[in-house]
Amino acid sequence: MTVPQRWETHSLLPVLVDALSLTEADEEVQRLVEAFGGEPASVAEHDLGEPVTRVRKLRFSSGGEIVLYDGAVVGAILHVKPAPGCPGVVDLGQWIAGVTNAATLDDLKAALELPVRFAGFSSPYVAVGHGYARFRFARRDGSGGWKDPGNLTGIVVTGKTPGLTMIDGDECPRCSDLLVRGEGGVDVDATIGRLEVAVSSRAIEEDAHWASLGDLTAIHASGLMERAESQLRCRTCRRIICLTLYRDGPATFGYHVLDDAMRRPMESIPPVEQWGSAERIAMAQAAMQYVDHEPGSWFLARQGDTLYFDARYSLGVADDSALIALNGEEREGYRTGGRSYLAELAKRMQAKPAGRRGSPYYSRDLSRRGGESGRDYRGEFTAAIKNHTWRAEQRARRT
Ligand SMILES: [Zn+2]
Repeated sequence: MTVPQRWETHSLLPVLVDALSLTEADEEVQRLVEAFGGEPASVAEHDLGEPVTRVRKLRFSSGGEIVLYDGAVVGAILHVKPAPGCPGVVDLGQWIAGVTNAATLDDLKAALELPVRFAGFSSPYVAVGHGYARFRFARRDGSGGWKDPGNLTGIVVTGKTPGLTMIDGDECPRCSDLLVRGEGGVDVDATIGRLEVAVSSRAIEEDAHWASLGDLTAIHASGLMERAESQLRCRTCRRIICLTLYRDGPATFGYHVLDDAMRRPMESIPPVEQWGSAERIAMAQAAMQYVDHEPGSWFLARQGDTLYFDARYSLGVADDSALIALNGEEREGYRTGGRSYLAELAKRMQAKPAGRRGSPYYSRDLSRRGGESGRDYRGEFTAAIKNHTWRAEQRARRT
């Protein structure tokens, strides 16, 4: 027999975990409802995405919340701080022995005796049985965030890893009404229209690794891609909106967390000459274009006579890259030395990382914000190389 762990004997988290993936008719869910005080103070329902997920939220005066997708429990939340639409906050000491609502991450770790993991850099969580408990803090970093008392806002228990789900972000005021439904599901033109408005008001931003919103219908109409997808990130809740047009099926519209969105399959986008209008082709010819790359090290793009070179470097723990326009000497070096010259240049840039002041590449780095021209070199460059990145190659391999 296995010895019960401390989180099982000294917390009520098992009551939350046991309800996962079951329905309101199930005993385990009823037990959770009872633990939250019986009758919910409010029940809110809405549709999410296309194909539609029916979201149902039971909120209790005790500060508890149960979230169901299409009738099954996907998560439960213990609200430690008042949240929009939620009528109360929990007394955390009743749920986890030995902690208060002012608990820090270390307090929670000690009380539950579980190792803390991280989803991305910002979401600490622990594995509890067949579920996960994510600790939500008002500030997301370690300094003044989870290290100081008073910043815990809630504990979110889900069946999926926190990196793959976000049940508490689906009522974001900035991005929740961007889908327009028509007769057959997504009204594609109207939805693209709304997304474009949201992009121009800077509520959301396009991810240049994917098909751009303006190209989506033309690529789809060409029939050259099995699935053409645009991805857009909400600046408020950080969810990724994926609008996907299928060659052989209805369009879909969904909200995803970053880890999930990144892994979505996509074929290479065919050359613009095969699907673009004359105007669009002319635009592409005037834009930066991919020339060459060395996996994991550098990329080269061209625009007119200008060569743009992007080389990776690492600064301690973090990897970054510097984007420069080759100067006269470097262009000559490339003309005569080709790829081996670029490899050397990448090495030189790695030795004097552009992220450090004093590096000769610091002021040349076009990806640094606040460039005097205001031009988005990094975005243009990313768009030019999108079919050739490691991620794109991984995705293409799987499709
Ligand atoms: Zn949002």
